[in-house]
Amino acid sequence: MSLPEFQVLRPRTLEEALELLDRRRGAIQVIAGGTDLVPSLKQKLFAPRYLLDLKSLGELRYIRNGAGLEIGALTTVSEVAGSAEVRRHFPVLAEAAHVIASPVLRTMGTLGGNLCLDTRCLWYNQSQFWRQSCGFCLKKDGTACHVAPGGDRCWAVFSGDTAPALLALGAEIEIVSPRGARRLPLEQFYTGDGMARMKLAGDEILTRIFVPAESSGMRGAYLKFRLRGSIDYPLAGVAVALSISPDGMCLGGRVAVTALNPAPLVVQGSQEALHNARLSDELLETLAQLAGRSIKPLTTSASTPEYRRDIARVFVKRAVRQAWNP
Ligand SMILES: Cc1cc2nc3c(=O)[nH]c(=O)nc-3n(C[C@H](O)[C@H](O)[C@H](O)COP(=O)(O)OP(=O)(O)OC[C@H]3O[C@@H](n4cnc5c(N)ncnc54)[C@H](O)[C@@H]3O)c2cc1C
Repeated sequence: MSLPEFQVLRPRTLEEALELLDRRRGAIQVIAGGTDLVPSLKQKLFAPRYLLDLKSLGELRYIRNGAGLEIGALTTVSEVAGSAEVRRHFPVLAEAAHVIASPVLRTMGTLGGNLCLDTRCLWYNQSQFWRQSCGFCLKKDGTACHVAPGGDRCWAVFSGDTAPALLALGAEIEIVSPRGARRLPLEQFYTGDGMARMKLAGDEILTRIFVPAESSGMRGAYLKFRLRGSIDYPLAGVAVALSISPDGMCLGGRVAVTALNPAPLVVQGSQEALHNARLSDELLETLAQLAGRSIKPLTTSASTPEYRRDIARVFVKRAVRQAWNP
């Protein structure tokens, strides 16, 4: 599993990075920690002539908590997981970052890379030899989807852990290109299509993540189902963030899920159900049912869709209870 040949470009400033990206459009790919991209290069899923290495952009590696939380995209996952500010004021984000991969991968991997992760599928994340033996697939080099044969849509799954936590906290992101900067809710970043997974043009870089001040102090929980407890991508993940009043009422909150659809998403109706709510079995059942309607697990992983559907519903109940009464 050798790496294809490529040239690494190491800009010293964001301006330089944007210029390089623009000039080599179509032949260049961004690399941050490389923990997801390098295995994919070895599997020949990509063969860019140039890699734009962002790691030297120190200006995008910071965590600030003032009027809300601001994190540079090049901040490592272990820095997010270990930050006292994040752990104290935005616990669901620290929890989600803490269970990503393994300590070594968290030390290399970045928050920006985690949000821009490629979607994953049993038929896609394989060697070229393996994929060729099955006639390839819709997402790469083939014409048919093995998960939903006959369809023209890719169902590869978004499998990052921090996105649901940030969605539950109502986060926004900043994207920069030679045309300037734009800011959008994280919820609007993902397309829901396994192939063109996010709204990021070829000359754009994800630069910053913002969590609003109103989300500071929200109680939270992140539960994750994975095959290898010490190092695996999620096969189902549930994040919950709740504002709980001193008398135990939930003033507002959100439930978000990952690894169950081609995009991470806020469970539709969860905000309304949690508004001025008291903890009860009925509320938990309602939220589990809402989640059941939002998710669409298919045969994209080694675990069955039925099991992942069941576990998602159970995790919603457990995560809400856990966040409510930490
Ligand atoms: C064995 C193993 C287990 C793993 N387990 C998990 C897990 O449990 N949970 C999980 O979430 N992840 C997991 N990962 C994936 C990965 O380690 C993390 O998601 C990590 O945070 C990715 O960040 P990175 O900086 O290494 O991304 P990279 O690999 O550098 O990039 C990932 C993608 O994002 C793009 N990209 C990166 N930064 C930017 C940017 N600033 N702007 C625009 N595009 C960008 C790249 O072009 C690439 O397409 C695992 C990986 C391995 C190898």
